[in-house]
Amino acid sequence: MALPILGYAAQSPTTALAPHQFQRRDPRPDDVVIDILYCGVCHTDIHQARNEWHGSVYPMVPGHEIIGRVSAVGAKVSKFKLGDMVGVGCMVDSCQHCAACEAGLEPYCVEGPTWTYNGTDRHDGQPTYGGYSERIVVSDKFVVSVSDKLDPKAAAPLLCAGITTWSPLRHWNIGKGSKVAVVGLGGLGHMGLKFAKAMGAEVTLFTRSPGKEAEARKLGADHVVLSTDAAQMAAVARQFDFILDTVPSQHDLNPYLNTLTLNGVLCLVGLLEAIEPPVQAAMVVLGRRSISGSAIGGIAETQEMLDFCAEHGIVSDIEMIAIQDINQAYERVLKSDVKYRFVIDMASLKQTA
Ligand code: NAP
Ligand code: ZN
Repeated sequence: MALPILGYAAQSPTTALAPHQFQRRDPRPDDVVIDILYCGVCHTDIHQARNEWHGSVYPMVPGHEIIGRVSAVGAKVSKFKLGDMVGVGCMVDSCQHCAACEAGLEPYCVEGPTWTYNGTDRHDGQPTYGGYSERIVVSDKFVVSVSDKLDPKAAAPLLCAGITTWSPLRHWNIGKGSKVAVVGLGGLGHMGLKFAKAMGAEVTLFTRSPGKEAEARKLGADHVVLSTDAAQMAAVARQFDFILDTVPSQHDLNPYLNTLTLNGVLCLVGLLEAIEPPVQAAMVVLGRRSISGSAIGGIAETQEMLDFCAEHGIVSDIEMIAIQDINQAYERVLKSDVKYRFVIDMASLKQTA
């Protein structure tokens, strides 16, 4: 007997999210059942609900910044017990045997990880549904522990915005002496500032929004550059070892590449489409610069990031919403009008029931 679940779903790329009843599987021996308390609202949820990356399957229940309490465990689960505060991010499974999975890099699983929503369960072939819902059933390997030192509401965005910025900063060995720039002050960008600062780097924000300077400094930026101002861009030529670019749509990379040092790296995390306008090859050749990219992060490093956050008192800056406000929240994210992540209080679902 499958579990009946209430959530919010998009029924097509153009319909608003609305209440939706669906079913989740009975827990398998390695499964953890989680009663969802909070779920962050990632810009990816909007891309996916509106089929902007193509391949969206409906009905779609978005949500991959999930925090909740364990309410049941399968017979083989020993890592979690009833009542534990836990998190689930963008993935709920992977092949577990390719080189990437064995290296703890499940986002790069050669078979592709099973995404938390808009995916297909690799065992029973059923669609996956995300965190804008009462409850989720997830293999214990893809569940992480959330310390009671962390405010669970503000910890929810760590499961995607947090790990997606943490992982590249760690991979490129950011630390004391590094000069890092973050492009875009949204959900990912504000975590990028906090982490780069906590790792000891000198941190710059590139933003299109003049009004964000004071807050960016509070979040960890030592410098703020208005990317629409050519003089400000020219003044930071050849400055940065590493640029973390969180912009969600096509934009000109050339002015940013020009601000990298010799061997500097620009890492894309926001863009999945073609780079447009084209990159001038001279921008990378003359300076031995690289353009790279990074996808979320592995499960072990997600736990490492959460433990670091508990130790250093780092969480996301959030605005709480009821699930009934989700469509308005999407419009505000698109206008960059959120400081800096919406988190849904899932108790509000009861008002829908
Ligand atoms: P967000 O909260 O909307 O923030 C994006 C920020 O980028 C905005 O606040 C804005 O900052 C800037 N921006 C927006 N449109 C822009 C444009 N046209 N040109 C220049 N700057 C622009 O989004 P998010 O949740 O942080 O997500 C960012 C992107 O990362 C999304 O595309 C999301 O799908 C993707 N993502 C990727 C991964 C991964 O694994 N790689 C994981 C999660 C999310 P300013 O106002 O400061 O300019
Ligand atoms: Zn996300």
